[in-house]
Amino acid sequence: MKTTFKISGLDCANCARELEEKLVALNGVQSATVSFIHEKITLVCDGQETLDRAVEVITHFEDVKIVSQDNALLTTINDENHKKEWILIAISALFFVVGIFCERMLKMPWQVCAYISYGLAYLPVGVPILIATGKNIAHGRIFDENFLMTVASVGAVCLGEYFEGVAVVLLYQIGETLQGMAVRSSRRSITHLMELKSEYATLLVQEERVCACGHCHTKDPTHVHDHAHKTEFLQKQVTPETLRIDDVVLVKAGEKVPVDGILLTDTALIDTKALTGEAALKRARRGEEILSGCINTGEVFTMRVTRAYDDSAVGKILEMVENASVGKAKPEKFITKFAKYYTPIVCLFALVLAVFCPFFNGLVIGKGFRFVNAERWIQSALTFLVVSCPCALIISVPLTYFAGMGECAKRGILVKGAIYLEALSTARTVAFDKTGTLTEGNFTVCAAQTAQGVTEEELLSTAAAVERFSAHPIAKAFEEISTAFAVERAQEVAGRGVVGYVDGQEVLVGNAQLLAEKGVKTPDVQSPYTLVYVSKAGAYLGVIEVGDKIRTETKPTLLTLKRLGKFDLAMLTGDNAERAKKIADEVGMDVVFSGLLPDGKLKIAQSLQQNGGLVYVGDGINDAPVMRVADCAVSMGKLGSAAAVEASDLVLISDNLSALCDGVKISKKTRRIVLQNIVGSIVMKCGFMVLGAFGVLPLWLAVFADVGVMLVATLNALRVRKKIK
Ligand code: ADP
Ligand code: MG
Repeated sequence: MKTTFKISGLDCANCARELEEKLVALNGVQSATVSFIHEKITLVCDGQETLDRAVEVITHFEDVKIVSQDNALLTTINDENHKKEWILIAISALFFVVGIFCERMLKMPWQVCAYISYGLAYLPVGVPILIATGKNIAHGRIFDENFLMTVASVGAVCLGEYFEGVAVVLLYQIGETLQGMAVRSSRRSITHLMELKSEYATLLVQEERVCACGHCHTKDPTHVHDHAHKTEFLQKQVTPETLRIDDVVLVKAGEKVPVDGILLTDTALIDTKALTGEAALKRARRGEEILSGCINTGEVFTMRVTRAYDDSAVGKILEMVENASVGKAKPEKFITKFAKYYTPIVCLFALVLAVFCPFFNGLVIGKGFRFVNAERWIQSALTFLVVSCPCALIISVPLTYFAGMGECAKRGILVKGAIYLEALSTARTVAFDKTGTLTEGNFTVCAAQTAQGVTEEELLSTAAAVERFSAHPIAKAFEEISTAFAVERAQEVAGRGVVGYVDGQEVLVGNAQLLAEKGVKTPDVQSPYTLVYVSKAGAYLGVIEVGDKIRTETKPTLLTLKRLGKFDLAMLTGDNAERAKKIADEVGMDVVFSGLLPDGKLKIAQSLQQNGGLVYVGDGINDAPVMRVADCAVSMGKLGSAAAVEASDLVLISDNLSALCDGVKISKKTRRIVLQNIVGSIVMKCGFMVLGAFGVLPLWLAVFADVGVMLVATLNALRVRKKIK
């Protein structure tokens, strides 16, 4: 059975993975995914009993709470804010200040007031930490930041350092809360895409209306209708998921298009901003496809549903966003490993400082086997513990990736996981498919040359009949051409063309290779266009030139890519060498591989991968295998091509190649910040750790330093979201 939970209180991507591992390890759990972005758990298990155990694990994990179970509104944004935390912090801070004042200004017996104030200050911020630590220890998770803070604050109190004991937890909570705010705002920028989905759809239902003669309902058999019954359209509000193909829906001004469909009204004015991140008004005409997620900015219109919700643009995007993962990039893995060994080692070292050093101290100054300066050393050990807390690293790295993905999402670039953002930033080669990627993929018939004795009409309609069976962009050029031929069966030959049978005769429509392989000779034709050769029953009928424009943004995009990343640019195409070369020269490509079949593209891609990371940009037609092996597969946002969206790691929803440059910029910036944070916080930590071990750093200043490093790292992480140039 499958269950979904909406949860709250999951603070880091790391914890998400830990929780996931715990759930998967349970007996009877088939699969479990914990989404940090959506604060959602999807669980497949064998029965109620297992489910109960899983719930037990979830609710005992850190501060995680289950908000709802199996609720349709799982994808709504969790609107928790941090008001409660701030109130607690404010109360604590108030008592803290009063405490400091009493301690400094009042003489004994009144100084008791100071201790009472400190105690009150400790309650709202310290107790939750103690509880969390207790909970974690009970579940076998010992070394985490709660544990460190507990040891430090309790230790300080035991030493009579009440001021420090409170300062530790207060500062720590402030840091945590700021962190939570940062996570929340990044979460928002990813989930803002959720707003693409419209809450309802207005379905038009045909209904037969009974006439108003007043007799229609009589049982009187002699009653004769003197007027016809009318059919009328009734508006009915339904959820987008319940719409089916060929339903007719009404979209009013200001509403979102619920599913993909075809316009039935003469014209409509739609805004694609929500989908692409760029405000762009578009006038659509009758019969044109309208993607879900667009907003109707003009008059009310009706449309016929062509894709059910799950297959519609919005459904696909949301599915992708839901499954996006944050926790797999290389630096992240490093950090997780690092934390696993680091914390116990640090604790051991602190123990040495606290126990061994005073003992050693005694020996050195000749007092024999006695502890000397124990208090001082214990304090050093506590300070050391606090400073060593690795939270800055553990939290800021995934947060940076998270922010990077959010930033991409805002610009209409969907990234399936942090790992792909990383691949994009470190790639050596960017390879492109030609048709539909560098070019617009809108083919039109430009010219036709017939063989002797064949009319142009015969040539075109033969080709058109067979092309009806192809999903290739070239086939679109033939859509408008009417044909009288009935094709019995037809099959696409990937990267070559189509083979069909008309009246039992084999018809070939495709490139020269396709015909050559079947032993049909073709003349050598010079043309700037793509050539589609046609033969029937082994006889050459002629060649059709179909034209496709290079996208206007192709050349500037390639130039920018070169500048940004010194990438090697390669073009992989199934088209002939001559035309491939011409286009490559025009747009400024470094290398060209032409005449490729899908598996040829795959081989080339694998050899390109020998030089380092490979980014592949394609449209999913004849290149899905390459997409699967590329380190980062980018597909153009023609969301109609579900294959591309599924196989790719990154989707440019705007269907504009130049978005790739934004993606590269964001990925590079993200990586830079991740490295800065890793190196920066390790260096700072080491510095403070040395100071702490030598007792130079007071405990409260150590917490300040620790929170400080964490905040600097967090703020640095959020820099990803600043404007990119
Ligand atoms: P690209 O790599 O440029 O995207 P493809 O691998 O999709 O090209 O196709 C390679 C070549 O095969 C095309 O340039 C075209 O000559 C031929 N071809 C493929 N499908 C068709 C079709 N449906 N009709 C005619 N020619 C086709
Ligand atoms: Mg292609």
